[in-house]
Amino acid sequence: MDKIQVEGLKKSFGTNQVLKGIDMQVKEGEVVCVIGPSGSGKSTFLRCINRLEDITGGTVIVDGQDLQNPKTDINKVRENIGMVFQHFNLFPHFSVLKNIMFAPIELGKQKEEEARASALRLLEQVGLSDKASAFPSQLSGGQKQRVAIARALAMNPDIMLFDEPTSALDPEMVGEVLSVMNDLAGKGMTMMIVTHEMGFAREVADRVIFMDGGYIVEEGTPEQVFGNPTHERTISFLEKVL
Ligand code: ADP
Ligand code: MG
Repeated sequence: MDKIQVEGLKKSFGTNQVLKGIDMQVKEGEVVCVIGPSGSGKSTFLRCINRLEDITGGTVIVDGQDLQNPKTDINKVRENIGMVFQHFNLFPHFSVLKNIMFAPIELGKQKEEEARASALRLLEQVGLSDKASAFPSQLSGGQKQRVAIARALAMNPDIMLFDEPTSALDPEMVGEVLSVMNDLAGKGMTMMIVTHEMGFAREVADRVIFMDGGYIVEEGTPEQVFGNPTHERTISFLEKVL
């Protein structure tokens, strides 16, 4: 079953057309890595999938719900989509535990005790059981990002979107975050990941999408895209980053 179906997606900011007609489907449990040069529209594309951006044309269907349909309850759809950004956006005045418990309680998904138990489980999953009562300012970048992942998972989403989750990290912290994402992929989570970590994409992705100039220029298995790219623009991008 397709978790995400995108057809003819266009997005403009004023006169700047950033997405020029994107077609893509993501199946349940599939891990799709999106690569491409800066400014190619990767973040905008990801943001259209939970309607953080209103689209200019085409359709985006998530979990069978057409995001442009006025009858669609976008908040319900969003509850099923976890999003992790480059900058962790943790609540600075909440402890780690409270950061994770906040949304499920606030949105009436869980009672306090249940939320606490599941937050502790998630902290264990991301290797931070000892940081429950720490505040974000006391954590390293890699730890903050792992908390941000745990927080996104607290709503029990069935899709996770990652926008360059390791780009703001010192190099020695990249591995610990990728490892958590790798575990998640192994558990069958449906994931779309914008990343510059080509080694990770090669290892974890079921499919790699190369974007340039608002289009998907090339897509395929990691073996195809990295090992045997066919488009000039893919080849020259990979020459620069590999
Ligand atoms: P990428 O993530 O691939 O670097 P983005 O999706 O962030 O690319 O940006 C693609 C283009 O869209 C850029 O030219 C950027 O300036 C423009 N853009 C992105 N967000 C906005 C916005 N909120 N308002 C106006 N222009 C935007
Ligand atoms: Mg971006």
